[in-house]
Amino acid sequence: MRPAILFDIDGTLLHARGVGRGAFDRAFRAAYGVAYPDMASISFIGATDLGVVRAMAEQCGVPSTPAREEHFAFLLAHHLEEGLTATPPHVYPGVPELLRALTARGIALGLVTGNVRATAWMKVRHAGVDDCFTFGGYGDEDPDRNTITRLALSRLPPDTFPALLVGDTPRDIEAAHRNGLKALAVGSGWISVEELQVAGADAVLPDFSAIDRSLQTIQTLIPTTVR
Ligand SMILES: [Mg+2]
Repeated sequence: MRPAILFDIDGTLLHARGVGRGAFDRAFRAAYGVAYPDMASISFIGATDLGVVRAMAEQCGVPSTPAREEHFAFLLAHHLEEGLTATPPHVYPGVPELLRALTARGIALGLVTGNVRATAWMKVRHAGVDDCFTFGGYGDEDPDRNTITRLALSRLPPDTFPALLVGDTPRDIEAAHRNGLKALAVGSGWISVEELQVAGADAVLPDFSAIDRSLQTIQTLIPTTVR
């Protein structure tokens, strides 16, 4: 059996440079028939797309039906593909090297993300690291990150065991622990290293730019495997 590690996307692997917010706005207007009055005030940090779009619909007084949510996700993916083609994501230092080093050690990598399925795979594709991931749980499946993590774990490759979740917010740490996983937090996103420590992460790194240190930290969390 080999270990499997789950990775959050935004703030952990990459920063989409605001492309997501514009795509969200356009997709919401088309799918729900109303413009959200204050897009700039919405926080996506640690959030899920389904949770955000349902809150937006409620705020606007329009129902969020499964049909509308699917239409929204479809349009979001369409606009995001356009946006990411024009403005590729910023991939954090060391991320491609770390993912390739883990893959080379036989570790299975999966996604656990608030992004809807199509945009999750799109973001890692535009970041050039899509070849490293083989499964995931997504933000159009449930508004709750704990449940999305459980869904990702239900899709582990058959020869793997769940080992670790890597994320950039207290919500990732909570989702890891609720699902019996260790949590490695990284300060590359919008939450400080100190706050992530207070939130109970099993280990915190400022970023992944020091590959050897990153691998060593992961080794301490899954000691029998990363050699
Ligand atoms: Mg994140």
